[in-house]
Amino acid sequence: MKKEFIFIGPPGSGKGTQTKILSKEYNLPHIDTGSLLREAVASGSEEGKLANSFMEKGQLVPIEVVSKIIKNRLLQDDAKNGFILDGYPRSLEQAYALDEILKEIDKDITVKPQVFYFEVSTNMLIERLVNRRSCSKCGAIYNIKTMKLKDENVCEKCGGKLIRREDDTEEVAKKRFDTYFEQTHPLIELYSERKQLTTIDASKDIDTIYKNLTGAIK
Ligand code: AMP
Repeated sequence: MKKEFIFIGPPGSGKGTQTKILSKEYNLPHIDTGSLLREAVASGSEEGKLANSFMEKGQLVPIEVVSKIIKNRLLQDDAKNGFILDGYPRSLEQAYALDEILKEIDKDITVKPQVFYFEVSTNMLIERLVNRRSCSKCGAIYNIKTMKLKDENVCEKCGGKLIRREDDTEEVAKKRFDTYFEQTHPLIELYSERKQLTTIDASKDIDTIYKNLTGAIK
C-alpha cells in the first residue's frame, strides 16, 4: 500500500529532522519545498529570483511556482509508492491545489495522505531556530546548544561547513511565524475535519518524537 505523509508545523518544530530519518527508514522520497526553492534560487533561474524575493521576507512564494515544483517532483519515479511532504501544503489554497495534483497524477486515488501536525510552544521554537545550523554539503541539521558538537562550524557526518540559514535571523524568523499562524495553521482544522490529522508533541527529544511518530502511522 502507498504511504503518503504530510508534515505541518511551525518553523523550528523539527519536521525536517524527523522527515529525513523517516525517509531513510521507509524508503520514501523526502520532498521539502523549502529546499527545492533554495535549489531554484541557487540555480539563478527567473523562477528562483522570483521565489527569493518572497523567501527573504519570510513570505510564501506564489502558488504557481510552488505547484509546478511539487507536481514535477511527485511525478518522478521514486514517488510512485508514496512520499513525505515537508513544508507543503502551507495554505488552504495549496491544500486544495494538492488535492487536484494528486487526482491528476493518480486517478484511482484510494489512499488519503496521513497528516502529522508538530505541536510545540513558540518560546521553544525561537530558541531552536536561533541555535539551528545546517550542513552546506549534506543538509544534516544540528542544534548547537543541545547537541554539543566538537566544532560548531563542522558537520560531524561529512565534514562539510555548518551554516546558519539566512532566514533564521530573528527578524525574518518572526515574519515566518506570522506567515505560519496566518496561512498554514488553518490547515489543522481542515485535515482534522477530514479525519487525516495526527498531532505529535514536538517539544520532546528527537528519539521520543520519532518513536511516537512511527507508532502513530496508520
Ligand atoms: P522552509 O525551509 O520550509 O522553512 O522554507 C523557507 C521559505 O521557503 C519559506 O519561508 C517560504 O518563503 C518558502 N516556502 C517553503 N515552502 C513553501 C510553500 N509550500 N509555499 C510557499 N512558500 C514556501
